[in-house]
Formats: sequence, structure tokens, C-alpha cells
Amino acid sequence: MSKKLKVGIIGGGIGGVATAVALAQRGIDAHLFERAAEFGEVGAGIQMSPNAVKVIRELGGWDDLAKASFLPECLLGKNWDTGDVNFVIPLKDDCPRLYGAEFFHVHRADLHQLLADRVDMSKVTFSTTCVDVTQDKDKAIAHFADGTTFEADLIIGADGVRSNVRHALFGADDPKFTGNMCYRAVVPFDEQPDFVAPATTFWMGPNGHVVTYYVKGGKGVNIVAVRETEEWVEESWHTRSTVESMMKDFEGWHPNLMKLFERVTEVYSWGLFDRDPMTTWSKGRVTLLGDASHPMLPFLSQGAAMAIEDAYVLAKALDALPDDIEEALRQYEQERLPRTARVQLEARERGRTYHLASKEDQAKRDAEYREQQQKDPHSGGIKANWVYAYNATDFQPVV
Ligand SMILES: Cc1cc2nc3c(=O)[nH]c(=O)nc-3n(C[C@H](O)[C@H](O)[C@H](O)COP(=O)(O)OP(=O)(O)OC[C@H]3O[C@@H](n4cnc5c(N)ncnc54)[C@H](O)[C@@H]3O)c2cc1C
Repeated sequence: MSKKLKVGIIGGGIGGVATAVALAQRGIDAHLFERAAEFGEVGAGIQMSPNAVKVIRELGGWDDLAKASFLPECLLGKNWDTGDVNFVIPLKDDCPRLYGAEFFHVHRADLHQLLADRVDMSKVTFSTTCVDVTQDKDKAIAHFADGTTFEADLIIGADGVRSNVRHALFGADDPKFTGNMCYRAVVPFDEQPDFVAPATTFWMGPNGHVVTYYVKGGKGVNIVAVRETEEWVEESWHTRSTVESMMKDFEGWHPNLMKLFERVTEVYSWGLFDRDPMTTWSKGRVTLLGDASHPMLPFLSQGAAMAIEDAYVLAKALDALPDDIEEALRQYEQERLPRTARVQLEARERGRTYHLASKEDQAKRDAEYREQQQKDPHSGGIKANWVYAYNATDFQPVV
């Protein structure tokens, strides 16, 4: 008879909670450890593209996701000052047909909650910080700041971009500041305003871009406004900034964007960090997942989606190979490493394309966008069709 696995998950962000759900669904005994006193996601939106929605559906969360979400009509690419439309990628009707699931906009707290609702809370420990992970042939041990330990067959580090588990496995290697920061805000609206399209709108301008989309079923507009900067900016969802600073950094951009910015009351700033893709995430009985393994720029809106895909694939590999954890981790990496590395690198490249500084370069890029639009809108624009088409639930471990 196969062994019943016992797993420790470090970190209860979207990746960790998705992992807890995916493991529990397969009858694997998983305990989650979160350093915060309770679960909580920040007050911001998140795009859930079809590749992530396919997994959430398998995890049983589709109904709750659909209820909490906004369904955008399309993904719009606009010029920063004229507002000219360079590409329109239809989403609402096309995503289920082309990719097998919807493209949703949701509030992060709602997404986290619908996953957390599927977690057995008796298997969650809050206010506990993992400081180290050790292992021997038979077990992995998570060590916590209060001196306690947890022994398991496998420890999964889902502890984000500054992962202690990653540090324990691979040594010190700080994430790199990418020279980009972003302002983020959510503006509440009773009615959808005529100056914000019911779309994911990418405004592309010199040395920056702005993404706007509805959340809360259309009762709020999420803003992510990215600026290149030489100054190092702290990476934190909780660092306050000012509307004045945001308005100043986007001076001269389209009046509709300015109208939206004027309505912002609370704004936060965030330094964007990433890492180069790794060649492995695992050692023995310890592995990584989500931002701990492949932090990326948010320019393809995929960090959480990748963590959700990782969670599903890892759970399926462990379920199929409970007696051979190293082989399960090898197959997990074989499936996930090439994909996440490509998304990491292409997200970086999108930054360069979106942020072209000279009018000539922008005109050339926009002409290419329009030409591609005529041929096939789905393979143009932000060029993410290959990201959406992937289906993590198709993964078949080799036993
Ligand atoms: C501006 C912006 C916009 C984005 N938009 C999108 C989008 O539209 N779509 C998308 O898919 N992705 C998006 N992302 C990316 C996404 O937010 C992240 O990739 C995702 O949240 C990563 O989840 P995670 O669970 O791996 O890590 P985290 O969310 O960082 O979670 C890590 C968890 O571990 C806990 N923790 C950390 N260290 C320890 C420790 N030592 N012990 C115990 N607990 C610990 C933390 O408290 C936290 O709860 C965006 C990112 C940014 C910055």
C-alpha cells in the first residue's frame, strides 16, 4: 500500500493556500504555516486569466470566483497621450471558446478567501515564521522563530519573493530591483464611469504603462501605474504614496486617465523585483512554489496564476508518486520550470516593449500592433495566447 504523505506548507498567500486545497483534494495531509496573525490579501485587484481559471475550477472554486468577478469585454492597448487604440483582444466570448475558461478580474481578498474557504483551518498555524528548513533521508523539518519545529515527508516553501525556505536551500540571493515601481489604487464607483472601458486597458507610454480594470463586479476600478525609476523603491503592498506624486509622474497622459487618477483617495507604491529563472527549485524533501521560486514582473499578469498552476501540478505529482518524493519533485519541475521561466523572461521583455521612450519607436511598435490586429488579434498585443492556452490539469505524472 502507498504511503500517506504528510506535508508542511510555509506561507499562506495565494500560492500556499491553493497548494493546501490541491493537496487536501487528493487526501494528502498538509499543514500550513503563515507568519501573519490571520489570512489577508491586500486591497487590490488581480487578473485571473483562463490558465488559472481552469485550475480554480478543478479545485472547486469556479462558482465563487464567477460570483466575485468582473468579466471584461476585451484587452485594449492604447496610446498614452492620444488614446488611439492599437489592439483589441476579445476576451469575454472568446476565452471560453479558445482556451476553455473565462478571463476574470477579481479583488485579491475575494480570490484568497474563496481558496481559504476550502482549507481545513484546524491544519493552519498563524503567527509563526519559518526561519530554516533541514532534512535527512527520511524527513524534512521546518524550524520556526519561536523554537518549535514541524516534521514532514516534504516541506514546500510558498513564502514569497523573500523566501526563507529558498534561502535555506540555495543560500543568500536577494531578488533584484528591476528599475520599475508601480502605484496601485482601487477607485470605488456606484456606476461604471464612461471614461473607463469595461476592459483590461493597457496604456503604453514613455518609460511606463498603466493598466486599469474593473473589480468588485464593476463597483471599483483597479489601477496599476508602472514607472521606470533609478531610485530603489521598497517592495511592500503597504507603503503609502500620494495622489500628487502619481499625477506628477503621469503628467501629460490621456485626460481619461487623469480623470480616474483624480478620484483616487488612497494610493500605495511598490518596487518591482524579480529573479533570473532557476535551474532547480528542490533539494531532497524540500521544494519551492510561486513567487518563492519564480518571482516575475507583473507585466503579463501571471505571478499568482503561475503559483496556482504550480500547486495543482505538485499535488498531482505527489499523489501519483507518494513513495518517491524526489521523483515527484523532478516531474513537478520538469513540467513547471520551462513554463515559468518563459513567463518570467517574457514579462521582462514586455516591459521594454510597453515602455519605449521615443515617438519613432512607439509609432513603429504601434504600427506592428495594428498590422497583427488585422491578421489575428489573439496572437497580437501583449502576446499572451500561449500563456492562456496551457492547461495544468492536463499534466500526467509518469508512474
Ligand atoms: C502590482 C502587481 C500586480 C499583479 N497583478 C497580478 C495579476 O493580475 N495576476 C496574477 O496572476 N498575478 C499578479 N501579480 C503577482 C502576484 O501578486 C504574486 O505572484 C502572487 O501573489 C504570489 O503569491 P505567493 O503565494 O507565491 O507569494 P505571496 O503572496 O508573497 O505569499 C507569501 C506568503 O508567505 C508568508 N510568509 C513569508 N515568509 C514567511 C515565513 N518565513 N514563514 C511563514 N510565512 C511566511 C507571507 O506572509 C505571505 O502570506 C501582481 C503583482 C504585483 C506586484
